[in-house]
Amino acid sequence: MPELPEVETVKRGLKRLIVGRKIINVEWDWPKSFPSSEEDVNDYLIGSVITDVKRRAKVLKIELDSDYTLVIHLKMTGQLVFRGDESFGAGHPTDSLVNDLPDKSTRVTLFFEDGSKLFFNDQRKFGWVRLIPTDMVKEINFFKKVGPEPLEDSFKAADFIKRFRRRNNSGIKSALLDQTVIAGVGNIYADEALYAARIHPETKVTKVSDKKLKQLYKAVREILTISIEAGGSTDRNYVDAEGKKGSYLKFANVFRREGESCMRCGREITKIKVAGRGTHICSFCQRRRLK
Ligand SMILES: [Zn+2]
Repeated sequence: MPELPEVETVKRGLKRLIVGRKIINVEWDWPKSFPSSEEDVNDYLIGSVITDVKRRAKVLKIELDSDYTLVIHLKMTGQLVFRGDESFGAGHPTDSLVNDLPDKSTRVTLFFEDGSKLFFNDQRKFGWVRLIPTDMVKEINFFKKVGPEPLEDSFKAADFIKRFRRRNNSGIKSALLDQTVIAGVGNIYADEALYAARIHPETKVTKVSDKKLKQLYKAVREILTISIEAGGSTDRNYVDAEGKKGSYLKFANVFRREGESCMRCGREITKIKVAGRGTHICSFCQRRRLK
């Protein structure tokens, strides 16, 4: 599933390529992927110019000069691919990022005036593109509930600690994955951050000291930043067909390294299940706190 760094990678790539382009047509093959009325499409999408591309948590917003916004959730297998004088694609890593498009995973295609195109591909059809008045976007349930952006300058360690303290009875990993606590931390980054802060993922939040929470706050921000610089865990060079392994995963210390040695203590990384998710730990560096 694309996580915050991947969606940020999509945002940055698209922002450079599609802002200022005029949409002249749209095609879609699956109504649930693009649940919009023909009237809205004709009045507010076709003929509009893209003014900005933004991200909130794992959701993308393509703003239009018609005062409507295309809100896009990639969910499990969504990806966005631009084809024009340049190619760019990111999101779920499949061959559709490099193959001829449209293909059988293509759900929505935007056609621009200069002949370039933007494809929303989604094999499993859980993702969606919605055309919504820009001033209504913040009213979508998802945006109302989602927690703060961990990388915003205004988001301080004290805010982080306060939000986690409200989840004192949860396990620390479940709290970290809870999008209403903070936005956009998925499984890979949760495991990496807990390893960096030396916290066992099953530890109850109440047993984690403020000092440790502060270390976790720093770890989350550092790991997300490094991952965005690397283009997310899906390889940003995928469009150049330079291999499928995500570039961030090369830096990962525990994620998918079970059986390998811990970089700090040399003991074996193991995989356990926490909050229903495959979880990677060094059980020496991240000791379980019994009391
Ligand atoms: Zn270790």
